[in-house]
Amino acid sequence: MSEKIHCLIIGSGPAGYTAAIYAARAGLKPVLYTGIEPGGQLMITTEVENYPGYPKGVQGPQMMDDFRAQAERFGTDIRYALIDKVDFTGPVHKVWTDGGEELEAEAVIISTGASAKWLGLESEKRLTNKGVSACAVCDGFFFRNLDVAVVGAGDTAAEEAMYLSKLCPNVHLIVRRDEMRASKIMEDRVKKTPNITIHWNSETEEVIGDADVDAIRIVNNKSGEQTTIPVKGFFVAIGHKPNTDIFKGWLDMDDSGYLISEPGSSKTKIKGVFVSGDAADKVYRQAVTAAGTGCMAALDAERFLSALGHG
Ligand code: NDP
Repeated sequence: MSEKIHCLIIGSGPAGYTAAIYAARAGLKPVLYTGIEPGGQLMITTEVENYPGYPKGVQGPQMMDDFRAQAERFGTDIRYALIDKVDFTGPVHKVWTDGGEELEAEAVIISTGASAKWLGLESEKRLTNKGVSACAVCDGFFFRNLDVAVVGAGDTAAEEAMYLSKLCPNVHLIVRRDEMRASKIMEDRVKKTPNITIHWNSETEEVIGDADVDAIRIVNNKSGEQTTIPVKGFFVAIGHKPNTDIFKGWLDMDDSGYLISEPGSSKTKIKGVFVSGDAADKVYRQAVTAAGTGCMAALDAERFLSALGHG
């Protein structure tokens, strides 16, 4: 016997929680499944300085705690489990939790976000959580007073390198081109930090170590010169992949897996299924834009449910 849900929200980043706040206040009795990373990517970030309403900045995890509390205040039923299968044959949408429970939802809001990418090296995989990490804020503490490396050249890599530079004597930033992708302000901060060394045109060939990380071997892709850098921590910050695998075959997506909605709306080609946040946004990917699209999805779901006569 499957549980019947009026409005199901999948995901717990800024998009999911904002959708929950709007849906709960509209009386849609939302049930929100957090997924395996409750709070999403902001749980692994440090200071958020660009979210309006926090003039002094806020720590990412604190901000997500505030979002969750606001969603709960209006009665959102938050469940700490993963949705790992869907059937959008319709008209009622079926989904399954990782515990095998079957749910039936009239409206579904997808806010599954995106997850960190890895380089794909065998040694990176073998040494994950033994010195290899995708989250300086979560794991940086373990490497205080030790040398570390960060790979990547976007805002995340810049932010992680800055964070680690306060804990570690030396931070090596491995950049594959001769320029960074990060915003100018972040790039300038990195360049002005004396204990960050940028290795330009460099790619990581191997993470060296048996029980834990001892060093990395990089190669200069212009000269072919190889260098071994002794480090105890190796932080991978090379971007993200949308968490949309379970929707393959049901919803339209681009080559990278980002979901495609109707222009200017959160609607998908399946009636009653809406998308929001980074799962459908490879361009802006900000907490504030995710929150905005979460609001759009809840408003679209509300209109859809009222038209069914269930609003
Ligand atoms: P990005 O996609 O912006 O950058 C990824 C970086 O990783 C690029 O520099 C890319 O190199 C590099 N890279 C990708 N694959 C590899 C590889 N196999 N080997 C080596 N390097 C690789 O991702 P981010 O996570 O940095 O940022 C995502 C979005 O979030 C951006 O819009 C960013 O502005 C935003 N953001 C904002 C923050 C803030 O405002 N506080 C903080 C963090 C992120 P290349 O440049 O050569 O392609």
